[in-house]
Amino acid sequence: MNDLKAIAVFCASSEGNDTKIISEAETLGKTLANENITLVYGAAKIGIMGKIAQASLDNHGKVIGVIPEFLKLKEVVHLGLTELITTDNMHERKLKMHELSDGFITLPGGFGTLEELFEIITWAQLGLHQKPIGLLNINGFYNDLISMLETMVAKGLLKMANFKLLIVEDDINRLLDKMRHYKRQPVPKWLKADRT
Ligand code: AMP
Repeated sequence: MNDLKAIAVFCASSEGNDTKIISEAETLGKTLANENITLVYGAAKIGIMGKIAQASLDNHGKVIGVIPEFLKLKEVVHLGLTELITTDNMHERKLKMHELSDGFITLPGGFGTLEELFEIITWAQLGLHQKPIGLLNINGFYNDLISMLETMVAKGLLKMANFKLLIVEDDINRLLDKMRHYKRQPVPKWLKADRT
């Protein structure tokens, strides 16, 4: 079983207009706090990002924000976090978030969120890490994306084994449970052990 001490959450820097998405983000923040799981995220106080962080803090959770210097200047950074880590750039930020976390959860979001999800799943596909990657499909938000991934599998452009790296759930507790029971995938033969 995977010990989830810290989870990085990728989500929108906007609030959007679906109240269910906001309330589920807050429930996730609260759940992580209650389960003593540190929230690692992009350090913003705005959007869905701000909602999950605040919910976790309000429930005495530990929250680590990781933000590149240039975004900090935008006065959107949450200054009440347990810990704030500043990086030189976006690449360093993602690497830091990865290092600090035992798993990843993606909530609804825009380009930034998808970019983070696909980078972390690509690293898993390459065998660079074996941490569970969850997709919280709130209100069917990601149904079309999942259909797109199924098309990629059907067309032979995405291996079924790699598609399965993504743990899709619409319920927070079931998602955490599946992430805890996620069986690490074998590293591709063409990668040497020292790359992982
Ligand atoms: P998006 O899904 O396009 O709203 O982008 C969300 C992701 O982009 C977040 O997970 C952050 O990593 C990053 N991001 C975008 N805007 C900000 C911001 N103002 N402060 C911190 N991170 C941000």
